[in-house]
Amino acid sequence: MALDGRCHCGACTIRLPRTPEYVGHCNCSLCRASGFRGVYFSSDEVEIGGEFDSYVRSDLEEPFLRNLRCKRCGTPTHWEPLTEPPHERMGINANLFDPASLEGVPVREVDGASW
Ligand SMILES: [Zn+2]
Repeated sequence: MALDGRCHCGACTIRLPRTPEYVGHCNCSLCRASGFRGVYFSSDEVEIGGEFDSYVRSDLEEPFLRNLRCKRCGTPTHWEPLTEPPHERMGINANLFDPASLEGVPVREVDGASW
């Protein structure tokens, strides 16, 4: 069953094809600061709507991701590789979805701080 998520103001929407296998709880400085919890899909499985601002980390020597957030309310929504789409794997903020729809999905600790 598809899952529909949205940013705080509702201007950005993301539809997942199915319940994610797990929710990643990452300890990197960016996820900690922005409150991002990740679920992961390939870009052709995910429907994304809205206008986004993006942030590429400037503290990494070789950044490889673009971090997107709603242009209007600033909610962090997803990240994608800096390469051209389609992306084999991208991350979507689990907090965009109704908590009831993610009930029972296991949480996995991700050691992003060591990357
Ligand atoms: Zn918004």
